[in-house]
Amino acid sequence: MLLVRRPRRHGLDGRLRVKVVVDFDVCASNAVCMGIVPEVFEVRDDGFLYVLDEHPPEALRDRLREAVRSCPTGAITLVDDD
Ligand code: SF4
Repeated sequence: MLLVRRPRRHGLDGRLRVKVVVDFDVCASNAVCMGIVPEVFEVRDDGFLYVLDEHPPEALRDRLREAVRSCPTGAITLVDDD
């Protein structure tokens, strides 16, 4: 019998197996992403966006995807981190 292992979408620690990557060259620091996932994105008083957690917990998956879709400059990508 052939067993096929499905790849896990998150690690054993409950963290997503993707990395949050922001292209700071195109980020407009408008804080749209911060409004959706403040646990991960923060625009500070210096006007720059900071990624607080590059490997967020699984529970944030849907909101992260929404942030990717909602970013007006397309600056956010979720990169496979296998
Ligand atoms: S939504 Fe996009 S452009 Fe706006 S702060 Fe976040 S990454 Fe930058």
